Amino acid sequence: MRMNSSQIKHFDYIFTGTGLSALMTVYKMVLSGKFNDKSILLLDENQKKTNDRTWCFWIKEETIWNSIISKKWDSALFANENFKRNMALIPYQYCQIKGLDFYNFVFDILSKNSNITFSIERVTDINELESHVFVGTEANRFTCDYLFNSIYTKALAQNQTQYPVLQQHFIGWFVKTETEIFNPEEAIFMDFSVEQKGNTRFMYILPVSKTEALIEYTLFSENLLQTEEYENAIQNYLHQLGAKQFEIVEKERGSIPMTCYPFWKKNTKRVLNIGTAGGWTKASTGYTFRNSDKKSSQLVDFLQKENFKMSSFHKKNRFWFYDLLLLDILHRNNELGSSIFSSLFKKGDPALIFKFLDEETNIMEDLRVILKCPKTLFIKTLLQIIFR
Ligand SMILES: Cc1cc2nc3c(=O)[nH]c(=O)nc-3n(C[C@H](O)[C@H](O)[C@H](O)COP(=O)(O)OP(=O)(O)OC[C@H]3O[C@@H](n4cnc5c(N)ncnc54)[C@H](O)[C@@H]3O)c2cc1C
Repeated sequence: MRMNSSQIKHFDYIFTGTGLSALMTVYKMVLSGKFNDKSILLLDENQKKTNDRTWCFWIKEETIWNSIISKKWDSALFANENFKRNMALIPYQYCQIKGLDFYNFVFDILSKNSNITFSIERVTDINELESHVFVGTEANRFTCDYLFNSIYTKALAQNQTQYPVLQQHFIGWFVKTETEIFNPEEAIFMDFSVEQKGNTRFMYILPVSKTEALIEYTLFSENLLQTEEYENAIQNYLHQLGAKQFEIVEKERGSIPMTCYPFWKKNTKRVLNIGTAGGWTKASTGYTFRNSDKKSSQLVDFLQKENFKMSSFHKKNRFWFYDLLLLDILHRNNELGSSIFSSLFKKGDPALIFKFLDEETNIMEDLRVILKCPKTLFIKTLLQIIFR
């Protein structure tokens, strides 16, 4: 760290927001050993000492997060009011990491590196100048050569009409029941048997034992609900499963933006948006962990290149367009979600669907997935997007 004439502290890199994407990136910078001479400031308004979220993702290989995975499932269930499908996920496994375990794991390593400073401060101002970036907080002023921002500005996507914006919104209860009603060997990805009420609504369940599970009432739709609507739905579902008595051990809630809005267009010479703020959330699903894992690795490699240009970090691909298609349909006809996901999961190969969502399929494989969806609907929407 060096001081300039007006005693504003200067860093090589500042991260505004120190959540998933920032911590993944800085942790990998440390692992690489190539950034030991860089001064790095991490700013967050939150201490990151609570279990504020649970991340799930699928993998088929070992990852650097293995030691903090709290549960893995080899199979998953998809259901609607007419059918249930138990799916073996091999060669993938569906994995869960608790937010607090992730924060503790990464901060433990970061605290051993004297070039990295974590400061709990609310960022109020980011201003890019020719030779540096200025960052103001409620208590301090800083400058840096490069800034990585994961503070999500909702207005960016909301105040435009070109790209539809849905939310993956949910409330989750981690419950303990008196009776054994869960199957800990199987995650429930999507249970659409709940009333749809003109939306895309489903239950998502992560059972860790026969009497313990995280149950989330989830919607892919534009507007949030009143708290009691999510909670009544969870309660009704638990009663249907046969839970007479249960204890709510923990609650979580989320509203994850699902949009193809090109956040990366806000990247500049010295400021790179990362995480959800940078478009690292998979628009059609809201999943962000896996994408952030990949993008943070790419970013750490990218920063080691000579004369890198931050604005060229992001590369748009055809999967962005596929996501746009689905979001366009769900935005116009939100009630169709259940039938679209049902046609995909009724006969689709789960491993291929994961590969597709990971954006690792080739064009022939893309078609095998897409052709499982209602064809006329997708072709009609495709034409509407092209000719609008
Ligand atoms: C409850 C929940 C469950 C989720 N489950 C999954 C899942 O199972 N799988 C999956 O892939 N994704 C999941 N997600 C989506 C996504 O993975 C997370 O939202 C993820 O944390 C996004 O990473 P990020 O770095 O973009 O943002 P964050 O991790 O939210 O980090 C942003 C940071 O910025 C800080 N901040 C905000 N404003 C300011 C300010 N003005 N000054 C200073 N700091 C500020 C916040 O405190 C936060 O720490 C979930 C999200 C939620 C909310």
